[in-house]
Formats: sequence, C-alpha cells, structure tokens
Amino acid sequence: MKVHVRKNDTVMVISGKDKGKTGEVIEVMPKTGKIRVSGVNIVSKHKKPSQANMQGGIIKEEAPIYSSKVMLYCTKCKNVTRINYKILEDGAKVRVCKKCGETF
Ligand SMILES: [Zn+2]
Repeated sequence: MKVHVRKNDTVMVISGKDKGKTGEVIEVMPKTGKIRVSGVNIVSKHKKPSQANMQGGIIKEEAPIYSSKVMLYCTKCKNVTRINYKILEDGAKVRVCKKCGETF
C-alpha cells in the first residue's frame, strides 16, 4: 500500500468523524496503508497494571486510520495542499507545497 505521508508530517483529516482535525503523523504502517495521527481517532484502552505503569487503568491512544482519509497540511498556507517534487543541486529529492513552495 502506498502511503503519501511520512512520519512527522502535519496532516488534516478530510473524512470521517475527525474531519477537519490536524495533527502530526506519529506512525506509518505501509502494510495496511494506515497511519496514526496525534489527537485523531482517540480510543480508550484498558491496561493491566505493569512494571512500567503500576496502576494500570484507562489509557487514551490514537488508533490507526486509512492514509487516504488525510491530506498533507501546509502550515504556511494554513490549508491542505498537494505535493510537488523538486530535485536539488546535490540530487536530493525534496517535497514542496504546490501552492507556496514551502519544503516539507
Ligand atoms: Zn503552502
């Protein structure tokens, strides 16, 4: 599955119950085409007490969503955008905002 965003990208949710929310990509799962986005699709999980967390209890955690539900969000345009690729003089390929040219 092709995922069009990368870890640490800022994205906006364009469909589903979290539509309109923005957050950072915290995990990309290419096998399923899903991603986890900070603050998006929060679920409560019951955890048993463990060594790391003596009390256990309910932990809120971001559940994966399909990457097709999000678009890259340009913090400069303050809007969703599409990506252009630009080849630098040293041959490196960078992603830039189609609208303002900001590098991601
Ligand atoms: Zn932009």
